Amino acid sequence: MASLPQLSAHVHADIVVIGAGYTGLSTALHAACAGRDVVVLEGGELGEGGSGLNGGQVIAGLKHDPDVLESLYGERIGAQLAACSAAAPDLVFDLIRQYSIECDAVRTGWLQLAVSERHLAPLERRAAQWRSRGADAAVLSDREAAKLTGTRRYCGGWIDRRGGTVQPLAYLLGLARAAMAAGARLFVRSPVSRLSRRSAEWRVETPRNSVTARVVVVATDAYTGQPFGSLSRTVVAVPSIQVATVPLPQVQRASILPAGQSVSDTQRILRYFRLDASGRLVLGTRGSYGDVPIPTLTRAHERAVRELYPELAGLPLEYRWGGFVAMTPDGIPHLHEPAPGLLAGLGYNGRGVAMATTMGRLLARRALGEAPESLGFPVAPVRPIRLHALSRIGARATIRYLQARDALERGFGRSSAGGSA
Ligand SMILES: Cc1cc2nc3c(=O)[nH]c(=O)nc-3n(C[C@H](O)[C@H](O)[C@H](O)COP(=O)(O)OP(=O)(O)OC[C@H]3O[C@@H](n4cnc5c(N)ncnc54)[C@H](O)[C@@H]3O)c2cc1C
Repeated sequence: MASLPQLSAHVHADIVVIGAGYTGLSTALHAACAGRDVVVLEGGELGEGGSGLNGGQVIAGLKHDPDVLESLYGERIGAQLAACSAAAPDLVFDLIRQYSIECDAVRTGWLQLAVSERHLAPLERRAAQWRSRGADAAVLSDREAAKLTGTRRYCGGWIDRRGGTVQPLAYLLGLARAAMAAGARLFVRSPVSRLSRRSAEWRVETPRNSVTARVVVVATDAYTGQPFGSLSRTVVAVPSIQVATVPLPQVQRASILPAGQSVSDTQRILRYFRLDASGRLVLGTRGSYGDVPIPTLTRAHERAVRELYPELAGLPLEYRWGGFVAMTPDGIPHLHEPAPGLLAGLGYNGRGVAMATTMGRLLARRALGEAPESLGFPVAPVRPIRLHALSRIGARATIRYLQARDALERGFGRSSAGGSA
């Protein structure tokens, strides 16, 4: 894509979107298609946030099972949340088709696999709940899981055929092109430093210029910072690190994930992996905060590759990178409306490829004036996390503790229930 401009003048728009990840670009695309004049302000370059760095797994559903959503939120809202998240991959693959986005899209399913016999029952219940709501899903035995993955590490699990994979940055760039073709104006290297409201208009300032608009959409997810006040304290940004091997030799490509599914497992600190279009094994897991050198950070990944696929021991890692995932205390993404004309969508808990794209469409519908009650997704009050400044310390300690328990269980060949799902 040709390089994009910086905001270099004071401009006016109907809607200004802050952040050019999937949330912001999907908002911009849907609002521009409805005829609104949209400006997107991105603080860095396209792809610097989670949308350019993620594992490319397109996953239906939220962290909570549909029955749990209904018991937590009541039958009506819970069912709406489940239905909205169930349809999220459809939106991704429909947009890819509609705008001819070249992003190595594959829709052969997402596998969630159990590292222990004790983790099987919750996965079977999950599959049953989704099947009863019409999803194309099935329980997998250990042999079926081994055939689909090429590793005997797993006791079984389930396949959710609503899911798939994309090359994340290519999908992001495709959304950006589609939004611009629909008329949205995108500016990069234009970090928003201040928001203020005068009568019915918002003024969104970058260090040298500004945009005025009636509606502002904050789409900064794990990268939400100071200019957005208490919104930045509604999520905890947790690091996730990935590695990619060199392309696998042909013989191994025939047995490792031959049908192109992606995998998440039930370790407490879950591991997720897939093959990319060049046959690289791309594997991720939670990382650490601070200045830990990346080769130290990725020792766990090297061990995971060896453990899953002993035949790949010694295969060099070609890439190592990471970013931040926004976690919410209730495990649900949040759509907020902190003030009239000010909207925000964030907190995808590691499932933002599909859900951030969907959130963008919800935000666009609300920005166009649709009533909150008709969105089919709750508008949540902004509830800053208490002692948020300490949340990184808490997250770091929790990650270390869970990593140690996973390691112990791997060592002793047993496990308890409750793997992160
Ligand atoms: C390593 C990793 C692996 C992941 N794997 C998966 C996966 O396999 N499947 C899945 O579904 N999800 C995954 N996720 C989560 C997913 O990537 C995110 O949920 C999703 O990309 C969030 O999109 P977004 O548009 O809301 O935010 P982002 O893509 O993070 O975009 C936010 C943007 O806001 C910009 N910004 C911040 N502050 C300002 C400011 N003041 N002014 C202007 N711009 C600003 C940032 O520069 C950034 O570009 C992963 C995340 C990471 C980090």
